[in-house]
Amino acid sequence: MNLADARAALRSARRIAVLTGAGVSAESGIPTFRDAQTGHWARFRPEDLASPGAYRRDPETVWQWYAGRYADVTRATPNAAHHLLAGLEREKGSGFFLATQNVDGLHARARSGSHGGRLVELHGNLSTARCETCGTVAPLPDPETFTPPPTCPVCASPMRPNIVWFGEYLPEDALEAASHAFRGAEVALIVGTSGVVYPAAGLALEAMGAGGVVIEVNPEATELTPYLSHSVRDTASRGLAALLEPDQPR
Ligand SMILES: [Zn+2]
Repeated sequence: MNLADARAALRSARRIAVLTGAGVSAESGIPTFRDAQTGHWARFRPEDLASPGAYRRDPETVWQWYAGRYADVTRATPNAAHHLLAGLEREKGSGFFLATQNVDGLHARARSGSHGGRLVELHGNLSTARCETCGTVAPLPDPETFTPPPTCPVCASPMRPNIVWFGEYLPEDALEAASHAFRGAEVALIVGTSGVVYPAAGLALEAMGAGGVVIEVNPEATELTPYLSHSVRDTASRGLAALLEPDQPR
């Protein structure tokens, strides 16, 4: 399938499922986990900052790390890729589904999930905390006034970062919703993710297996590329613009 066919498929589809990864955040200047590990944090192993065991041993350190990352994402703003996907949802309404591997909350801040479609943050959100006692999820206060740990507004227990850590499962209901959406999608978009990170490959192949068109946007070829209907070899914002922006008069 060529680019014109991919554009036409997106235009006519009523049901679209999208998966986004780190490549979408990169253009907003969001550092990856390892890129954020500078200075004081460079000496830690990732699993010493992002695992249930680390949190049990040393919740203060884990919260300091996440408070810093929360401050980073608060300073960042959604980029053209986030806005193009929010625009696609405005067009498709309830037929639009977006699952993200990113924890920066930028899709929500670009208003994805607010136009009749659905946004699922598979790995959690840095701007919220979760109560391990009663399950309440609550937004964090402004980074300037935030002193961890936050306290549950319902039961007053200390809350943990609302992030899926090493050694934890992705939330089952979120995965089930994503799987359902990809199986039912006429067109699936895989944006800014290498395709090897679970669950990207599985979702793409589920959509293909059910007869959907699957389009990838990524600067490099991925292990999924040979199986997909079309690949746009570009950054998330330029690739999505090529797929979604109206034809320019020539
Ligand atoms: Zn609680």
